[in-house]
Amino acid sequence: MMNDNWQGILHQSLTTVDDLVARFGEENIDREAVERAIEKFNLRITPAALAQIKEVGDPFWRQYVPTGEENEVHDGMIDSLDEDADSPVPNLTHRYPDRVLFLVSPVCATYCRFCTRRRKVGDPEKIPLNQFEKAFEYLRQHTEVRDVIMSGGDPFMLSDRRIEFFLSTLRAIPHLEILRIHSRMPSHLPQRITKELCDVIRKYHPVYVNVHFNHPSELTEDAVRALGMLADAGIPLGSQTVLLKGVNDDPAVMKELMQKLVKARVRPYYIYQADVVAGAEHFRTRFEKGIEIIRALRGWTSGLAVPHFVIDAPGGGGKIPILPEYLQSVTENEVILRNYAGDVYHYPLPREPEPALMVCSNGNGNVAHEDQPEMFRGDLVLISGKGKGKGEGKGRTAVHGNGNGKVHGNGNGKLNGNRKAHGNGNGRTNGNGRIAPLELELPFPEEAAGQK
Ligand code: SF4
Repeated sequence: MMNDNWQGILHQSLTTVDDLVARFGEENIDREAVERAIEKFNLRITPAALAQIKEVGDPFWRQYVPTGEENEVHDGMIDSLDEDADSPVPNLTHRYPDRVLFLVSPVCATYCRFCTRRRKVGDPEKIPLNQFEKAFEYLRQHTEVRDVIMSGGDPFMLSDRRIEFFLSTLRAIPHLEILRIHSRMPSHLPQRITKELCDVIRKYHPVYVNVHFNHPSELTEDAVRALGMLADAGIPLGSQTVLLKGVNDDPAVMKELMQKLVKARVRPYYIYQADVVAGAEHFRTRFEKGIEIIRALRGWTSGLAVPHFVIDAPGGGGKIPILPEYLQSVTENEVILRNYAGDVYHYPLPREPEPALMVCSNGNGNVAHEDQPEMFRGDLVLISGKGKGKGEGKGRTAVHGNGNGKVHGNGNGKLNGNRKAHGNGNGRTNGNGRIAPLELELPFPEEAAGQK
């Protein structure tokens, strides 16, 4: 059974350098360096996160224990994603057309040393808890927003009452279709996922929860049980993972993580290239590592277990997906593809339809078909003549001949000389007679209409 006293368990967390020394020994903790590091970014490691650390330097130690490397700032940025520049009111970032990021909590159960938002997280002054009305008002006025992502900090650090306040206030805004909550609690403090919390969330569906797991060993029995409770409450679960040096920069580790997430009813959503964050540069890998990981997943395991690998572009460019080169090239007739095993395949492109009607004229007269306009409507029409010719039709129309010709109508072309046509959506000719459809460069009627 889950222990409902999650606040009590949170209080058992390790929060000071002395705690670290007591747990890991003087020889493994550089007191002075760690003191400096935690001045800039809080320290807290919950019992569940601490239990994951099996030895100094392992993937969990690297994620949670501060080191002197955090003080070696080279080219990291304070706000690498430029979130503050896209913040119209406090606590809100509105970057994409129809969705916003809403920072509702300043604190986390465990502070991850690689955190992109470490400039703010842990500091209630930077994620103020008393200015939400401006954010709600902005959302009420901006009817283009249909998706709100609640994050922080960790929203599940709030009380159930507070969470219900946010969900009910947002749900009362009619154009908000989707509410999302981002949380690392199932990994760091699984006891927080209580029946009462699930009952609050389920009242405001659709609410999605996106969890954050970086290593397969984080899917402990308690974590899986917490995820199961959320899933049983009808909450669709997705996950995000940050690609981190010395933590999960290994295709086998990532594959196991993704498979375990799917088994726990979580759909892997993103693997992020680590952001350029001041104090977290030692976590960054080459981006080719991410491609290697996706290549090791796609085709080799269930598609459900393959997330998008993205770089969140510095300066506010948003998430940009990075893919191995499955698409090799595209020609007029086919697409050349490489499959997961590296084999090359050709996919033929659809051909233009055969002409439905052909009209020919020899001589100088007009070729006009006003009396039979239905013959032309919607069809591919070819008019050819050896002299001056004129054709009218509605449909995809081509003309050619050895003299001058003119075509009117939707999708028309104009012939000004031998074997050449100009005009809106013009076509090429092959001489007298029938024109092979693939050699035409004619617009569809709606394209021609759009050109007017
Ligand atoms: S739980 Fe999320 S917001 Fe909190 S420190 Fe970790 S990465 Fe940052």
